[in-house]
Amino acid sequence: MIFEHIENNGHEQVVFCHNKDAGLKAIIAIHNTVLGPALGGLRMWPYKTEQDALNDVLRLSRGMTYKNAVAGLNIGGGKAVIIGDPAKDKSEALFRAFGQFVDSLGGRYITAEDVGIDVNDMEYVYRETQYVTGVHQIHGGSGDPSPFTAYGALQGLMATLNKKFGDEDVGKYSYAVQGLGHVGMEYVKLLKERGAKIFVTDIHKDRVEKAVAEYGAEAVAPDAIYDVEADVYSPCALGGTVNEQTLPRFKFKVICGAANNQLSTDAIGDEVVKRGILYAPDYAVNAGGVMNVALELDGYNRERAMRMMRTIYHNLTRIYEIADRDGIPTYRAADRLAEERISAIGKLKLPMGRSQPRFQGRIRSA
Ligand code: NAD
Repeated sequence: MIFEHIENNGHEQVVFCHNKDAGLKAIIAIHNTVLGPALGGLRMWPYKTEQDALNDVLRLSRGMTYKNAVAGLNIGGGKAVIIGDPAKDKSEALFRAFGQFVDSLGGRYITAEDVGIDVNDMEYVYRETQYVTGVHQIHGGSGDPSPFTAYGALQGLMATLNKKFGDEDVGKYSYAVQGLGHVGMEYVKLLKERGAKIFVTDIHKDRVEKAVAEYGAEAVAPDAIYDVEADVYSPCALGGTVNEQTLPRFKFKVICGAANNQLSTDAIGDEVVKRGILYAPDYAVNAGGVMNVALELDGYNRERAMRMMRTIYHNLTRIYEIADRDGIPTYRAADRLAEERISAIGKLKLPMGRSQPRFQGRIRSA
């Protein structure tokens, strides 16, 4: 049963990690290491069943392979989950025990922060292994990725406007931004700097008030965002907001935002195309965060990170070319770009004695 599941998703290795004394039950899934070591965050969640945890880690690690490949990184896809309640079950021993399992994989899997995990937890992991990103800046960590994600999303937006309207003048168009958190607020700021007309919503009133006061945005109620007459819908909150209930209400011409898993199903993705809306694939648009942590692997440099964000423009342009070339929706074209890159790089004959790239470990500060 488990092997069938793993085979269907194409995973290389799945590691079940158990330490009774530390109360650790974790699963590390390495999906694909053709491009390089598998990088992906650690999620802590009170999964109802072990099967739920396994399903989640298999799905998420596969997603990282595609995201990292489209981002142009020499990084494969992986992910880890700890079964537990982040509000109650965290301890130093738990994260150090997890760190020991990561270390035992010798760099095939590199961990990072995800839902339920913060930089303090990563400090404990870091005591046991160097195969970790997202640590504190004093250890060469990259800090909060959100401003990079927002700036990267702006690059993706420009490529998308160019495809849809034939120009990339952000200020000429209007935007409906859902979610004013770490990424959304920064994204609104970038839109405002370019003179755009912006509609915003959030379930936190103070965030909406800030966007209105500081960036001249127009506030709308959370559910009213889908009816706004704007050119672009930018989801920066939850996943699945493009769905059977919301899509018929859209007057938008473009969907481009930072949220993960924006399309509720593939069928909705096909319907988006039929309605003449251009969808900018989410994992290509929001790759700024992973690009930023990936840069920690060979010595973090902020300027280099900003330059790397600009490649998101070209990644999106390439996706649109593939969609036109193959007559497929853009969400499928993004997957195809990832698969083509993995296949091409996998076929490269490396010089004698050189294996595929492998992270040698970060330089430890004292
Ligand atoms: P966040 O938690 O800081 O912000 C999310 C915001 O959405 C919050 O202000 C929240 O109140 C609001 N929100 C929640 N439900 C809402 C609703 N129904 N209507 C309107 N607003 C609602 O998260 P973030 O770090 O800004 O990330 C936003 C999205 O981007 C997430 O989907 C995340 O997975 C994705 N993402 C983030 C990064 C990053 O670097 N932070 C990287 C890649 C992808």
